[in-house]
Amino acid sequence: MCGIIGYIGDRKACDVIVSGLKRLEYRGYDSVGVVTENGGELYIRKGAGKIGELEKKLGLSELPGNRGIGHTRWATHGIPDDTNAHPHTDCTGEIALVHNGIIENYLELREELLEKGHLFRSDTDTEVIAHLIEEELKTAGDFEEALRNALNRLKGSFALGIIYSRDVEHLYFVRHESPLVLGIGEGEMFAASDVPAFLPYTNRAVFIDDGEYVILSKEGYTVKDFRTGAVREKEVHTINWSLEMAEKQGYPHFMLKEIHEEPKAVKEAIYGNIEFMDRIAEEIAEYDKIFIVAMGTSYHAGIVGKYLFQRLARKVPIVEEASEFRYEAEGVIDKNTLVIAITQSGETADTLAAIRLAKKRGAKTLSIVNVVGSMATRISDLVIYTHAGPEIGVAATKTYTTQLTVLTMLAIALARHLKTVDGDYLNTLEEDLHKLPELIEEVLGYEDELKALAEELEEKKDFFYIGRGISVATALEGALKLKEISYIHAEGLSAGELKHGPLALIEDGVPVVAVAPSGKTFDKIVSNIEEAKARKGFIISLGDNDELRKISDVFLRMPEVDELLSPVVYVVPLQLLAYHLAVLRGNDPDKPRNLAKSVTVE
Ligand code: GLU
Repeated sequence: MCGIIGYIGDRKACDVIVSGLKRLEYRGYDSVGVVTENGGELYIRKGAGKIGELEKKLGLSELPGNRGIGHTRWATHGIPDDTNAHPHTDCTGEIALVHNGIIENYLELREELLEKGHLFRSDTDTEVIAHLIEEELKTAGDFEEALRNALNRLKGSFALGIIYSRDVEHLYFVRHESPLVLGIGEGEMFAASDVPAFLPYTNRAVFIDDGEYVILSKEGYTVKDFRTGAVREKEVHTINWSLEMAEKQGYPHFMLKEIHEEPKAVKEAIYGNIEFMDRIAEEIAEYDKIFIVAMGTSYHAGIVGKYLFQRLARKVPIVEEASEFRYEAEGVIDKNTLVIAITQSGETADTLAAIRLAKKRGAKTLSIVNVVGSMATRISDLVIYTHAGPEIGVAATKTYTTQLTVLTMLAIALARHLKTVDGDYLNTLEEDLHKLPELIEEVLGYEDELKALAEELEEKKDFFYIGRGISVATALEGALKLKEISYIHAEGLSAGELKHGPLALIEDGVPVVAVAPSGKTFDKIVSNIEEAKARKGFIISLGDNDELRKISDVFLRMPEVDELLSPVVYVVPLQLLAYHLAVLRGNDPDKPRNLAKSVTVE
């Protein structure tokens, strides 16, 4: 995820771009770059850092010209440094472009272009696009045709802003699975990832759809389908959002926006890792002594990881809070140990200490991280990125489901490598993995029901979340979300534990949320639900077996999904329930009391 803005008109382009980038910073903030055109010459300035620091340092507001493009990056491929910052150019320096998204087949394209003599300067996936257009220009009739040919070779997600120095009348923009919207002015036009970028100048907007590209001039725009070249008619919308609402894309809170971004985030997590997972699996396949260390929500992802590793790769990792591991594990780590650290920010103090300890004892370290270039990525031997984009809400949502996605991919890759389970089953799992974004979309449709449920439960003092097997993690995470943002006491536990103590707390009307996908232990959790029901607990069950309806006060019919993939789908309604309870109780879910987004102190 990142922010793109483009301007063409009579104003000084760099002023519009710099102010737009400031309003897009919430989308990504590890590097910044601007390109403008004046007299057929391109002026490019870029660097790692935030717009506030770089504006002066790079002289971004001194660039000449009335058309240009800017980018605020959230790195996915290549660390955040000056070279990897966008814009990227072709060999001639005549084409400059910025990109939001991931080019899934960039390695293959890069190889092909290297063979043809192209010179690459960065480690990004983005740079291949500039060279690919350059290559296509050699045979195409004009720039537009070259652009179309290049776009039709790209796989993955891409919103692009492109400037071609030989065509001083236009800017080009593209949308495919990454957002793009045009701002329509009088004698000036804007394009951006998001409305806030141009809202101070115009509130008339045209939303571009997947598979479309835009030819933007001072006077107007033409939108075409990049597969067929056909012109598309577009509707102009008037935006009535305030700037603050626009940053949240009309959602009242970042958390809700981020929950709704989960289908896309999971897709990016898959796209962004598909090429690397086998290599990582190969590197760790020989380790049998494995620790998974993490804190908070990431720790719950670690528990899911444990079940996945057991069931698929026949390995039994020990999942431990990094805060415990760092003080207790020294004597048992050696060079035959693999330590997998999971941290959204890559800066969690306890998790960093755990990685450092592991390194000191000669262990192999693998980090699963969202923030590219963060400390965890710098000190670990191997890194897997979750590609969720920036998460602003303190309570983790999309970063959790993407952690689960990459852990599933890793376990599948390991199982393939080690031949521990049937290959056909792995193929089916992999196919199902690609369906997860759709399934999440489906459960997001429950929002109204969950909001109504939240109204019913608003006054409750204690909640219990139960699950079995891999769903224990979902129960723990559901309870954590509720605690964090609604401030209601909640416990997540293995349903088998109920009668060993917690059942004593179940009385008339106490909510018991049962996470009950079909699978190995479905019958067992049905018995546990009965136990809670017999104590008059208020049963809310999530599952794909209609039997549950009979024994539940509220039943959420979940889509059918393999039990091993179910945590990615089942946690989403629990995030929504916690969100709506928090809002009903007058809390700000984005900034829960006493908590910070990244826990950089012990
Ligand atoms: N994949 C591109 C990169 O790593 C774009 C990332 C973004 O959307 O900011 O540079």
